[in-house]
Amino acid sequence: MSDGQIHEVIVIGGGPAGYTAALYAARGELAPIVFEGYAAGGQLMITSEVDNYPGFKDGIMGPELMLQMREQCARFGADIRTEDVTAVRFSDDPQATPHEVDAPSGTLQARAVIVATGATARQLGLESEARLQGRGVSYCAVCDGAFFREQELVVVGGGDSAMEEATFLTKFASKVTIVHRRDELRASKIMVEHARSNPKIAWELGYVVEEVLGDDAVSGVLLRETDGTATKEIPCTGFFVAIGHDPTTALFQGVLDMDENGYLLQQPGSTATNVPGVFAAGDVADHVYRQAITAAGNGCQAALDAERWLSAVEQGATA
Ligand code: NAP
Repeated sequence: MSDGQIHEVIVIGGGPAGYTAALYAARGELAPIVFEGYAAGGQLMITSEVDNYPGFKDGIMGPELMLQMREQCARFGADIRTEDVTAVRFSDDPQATPHEVDAPSGTLQARAVIVATGATARQLGLESEARLQGRGVSYCAVCDGAFFREQELVVVGGGDSAMEEATFLTKFASKVTIVHRRDELRASKIMVEHARSNPKIAWELGYVVEEVLGDDAVSGVLLRETDGTATKEIPCTGFFVAIGHDPTTALFQGVLDMDENGYLLQQPGSTATNVPGVFAAGDVADHVYRQAITAAGNGCQAALDAERWLSAVEQGATA
């Protein structure tokens, strides 16, 4: 059931991009509705200490940072709904017909929509991996690498992310072992060569990770030959999963323009999508930087773009 109103802005997503978009939209008196989702908070909810978000000189726990962002946008009147959007119907001419967003509690209409649904790091799906998340299992080398000075680490994956993360981690670690399920690497030649020339990087190709070892903290990984039964243990205190990310864009298939990996495309120099009045922000449109601070910055940009677009529409000129 609709509430019978045409709202100015609906934000879809409750991570750094969504909450920052909501903060700016609320302070811009656009009275945003925010669908933060049942899994509100995004990827920072599975991160422990965050030491690279400016403004917190002693670091802050990921879930606490998200709670503060949420409360900050609520303080300025953002109407936060803890439910998942189930469908969208975007209008080609939102001046005449508003966009519609369906959620279990009903359908809402708005002139502008900001999509900030994020991306999720792919997981191996092991029970031990889930249990040791934030206790040595990480999905972000840039975020967590500095916690592992002079320690031995394992990175799983054979793509550019795995090469990049392993190379980055050698700044801190005494040794980084790359584990990949095939003998052949998917990563680009130049990145493989860069990693191969690094004396701190060791290789275990043709192995899958069977188990992450450790009770309260990671102490190693158990590997098994991909095409055999032989197993071996590699000691490590940190286990970095770098097997790719999936943007959360299933709702927008066939509606918003995406790249071949499903990331939303923004117009050059803007957060606008191909649909008038629909903006994209954060990791859902960014497979390069993927940081809380870049997502938050992009959320701010989307709110400012939406605000300008709405005032242009009001003055009769669609930007
Ligand atoms: P990706 O290219 O999709 O590679 C994922 C890797 O993880 C593959 O080697 C894959 O193995 C492995 N993998 C996937 N699922 C697995 C599982 N369940 N168990 C074990 N291994 C698994 O992802 P990415 O490395 O994140 O790169 C994504 C895109 O970003 C690419 O286009 C990449 O070029 C780009 N990128 C560029 C840079 C750069 O240029 N600086 C840096 C990072 C990423 P298989 O090979 O066997 O399928």
